Amino acid sequence: MKKTILPDIVKAGDPVLHEPAREVDPKEIGSGRIQKIIDDMVKAMRMAPGVGLAAPQIGIPLRIIVLEDTAEYIGYAPKDETKAQDRRPFDLLVIVNPKLKKKSNRTAFFFEGCLSVDGFRAIVERHLDVEVVGLSRDGQPIKVDASGWQARILQHECDHLEGTLYVDQMVPRTFRTVENLDLPLAEGCPKPGSR
Ligand SMILES: [Zn+2]
Repeated sequence: MKKTILPDIVKAGDPVLHEPAREVDPKEIGSGRIQKIIDDMVKAMRMAPGVGLAAPQIGIPLRIIVLEDTAEYIGYAPKDETKAQDRRPFDLLVIVNPKLKKKSNRTAFFFEGCLSVDGFRAIVERHLDVEVVGLSRDGQPIKVDASGWQARILQHECDHLEGTLYVDQMVPRTFRTVENLDLPLAEGCPKPGSR
């Protein structure tokens, strides 16, 4: 039997997750090495499954992110929740050397998690409208205008490239296990929702 060898997802505490990643030399994007890293990232993200992954999460300190959200994944979550989160499907995106900027002052507070911080969630405030420019896996310039949940995923993945985990950005007293996700928030914590 042929087994696909998948890279392990690196967990919090590994130094690669806590230091900035390096730019990819645009001339190198077409190389077998970088293309293989991208393929591995997509496989690891889908296998997890997750909606985004940054190269440091498979132990590679390079500025590459992948993200994807599907109608199937979204269907597993309650409809009122995905509506509040403005979560809509989008096709696989691979962005090399992404640069993110916010496009409005609108923000939202929602629980998020991370494949590198398995089994936990916390509320994180994120911008609702962002623009990301970078290079595609063919080395072509790309620009992504995103809002809602896709904007959150982009911010989360770009943070990974700075060595920042969501736990570095969260509202600390909202941190909890996945099992306890629906238990009441401590007093003074911001309620999930847009601002
Ligand atoms: Zn993450």
